[in-house]
Amino acid sequence: LAQLFRPLDMLGMVYREIRQGLIDMEAMFKLVDTPPEVVDQAGAPDLHVAGGALRFEDVRFAYDPDRPILKGVSFAIPAGGTLAVVGPSGAGKSTLARLIYRFYEVTGGRITIDGQDIRAVSQASLRRAIGIVPQDTVLFNDTIGYNIAYGRDGAGQDEVEAAAKGAAIDGFIRSLPQGYDTRVGERGLKLSGGEKQRVAIARTLLKNPPILILDEATSALDSRTEDEIQTTLDAISERRTTIIIAHRLSTVVHADEIVVLDAGRVVERGSHAALLEARGIYAEMWARQQAERAAELVEEA
Ligand code: ATP
Repeated sequence: LAQLFRPLDMLGMVYREIRQGLIDMEAMFKLVDTPPEVVDQAGAPDLHVAGGALRFEDVRFAYDPDRPILKGVSFAIPAGGTLAVVGPSGAGKSTLARLIYRFYEVTGGRITIDGQDIRAVSQASLRRAIGIVPQDTVLFNDTIGYNIAYGRDGAGQDEVEAAAKGAAIDGFIRSLPQGYDTRVGERGLKLSGGEKQRVAIARTLLKNPPILILDEATSALDSRTEDEIQTTLDAISERRTTIIIAHRLSTVVHADEIVVLDAGRVVERGSHAALLEARGIYAEMWARQQAERAAELVEEA
């Protein structure tokens, strides 16, 4: 009888793996509904990445036709540059990330990478070019090594370890009794928010994409962990086109350009210094967050 059940057991395992893969993708973007299917045009060529310049040209988008979310958003990130998007909750920041990854199709305007409309290229090639460090990483019920290796098919152990070093989690993994073979996830070792984020960073390093989307965690990490992670993120975004979806302004100070999104429109843009000088929404948000951060530091001390 046991013989009979083994294949069923395996099927169950495969099913769980697939399902968890989907959960991971959904969690990446906090998808509530299943997105409408985005299909490739017949014979769509692969994206050809030269340097990874990313442009939004008058991008419009609505999940529901009656409720426009993005109302004509334009910006350009030169190859290797960093753009930060800030703004109040619900402004449409994470929606920008979903559109770049083509989870949804824009309803107006266009998004280009090195001059190619992302609707005209194959999704597989588009997604290969983009790495995402999501807000909250869902781990597979498997070893921590597997969870990192998942960043790229066929990655060897030495590459996994190099990525873990880059994400500053190698030391932690080595300190575990079973090292890279330690099981994590729901049925294994529970990782802290900061550790999970480092796993996501290591995965992304392994993927080595020319374009990076950092969807900053809203969940509170303590200030020290946050600073340490920030240093790692700064290092991996060097030489890559990076878009930071920011919830805390402390992380965007060094961005080449900051755009302030409010109710689906860019209402301010410029460097940190220029935006402070303009004394607008950004300056106000900055003052408020500085005060909050000071209070947190006092609490932690
Ligand atoms: P936060 O800072 O809180 O993460 P955000 O600026 O990233 O907010 P988005 O997640 O882009 O905001 O959401 C913008 C708007 O789109 C919100 O009003 C939200 O309710 C709506 N929205 C998001 N996802 C969906 C969806 N799958 N279906 C319908 N509406 C959605």
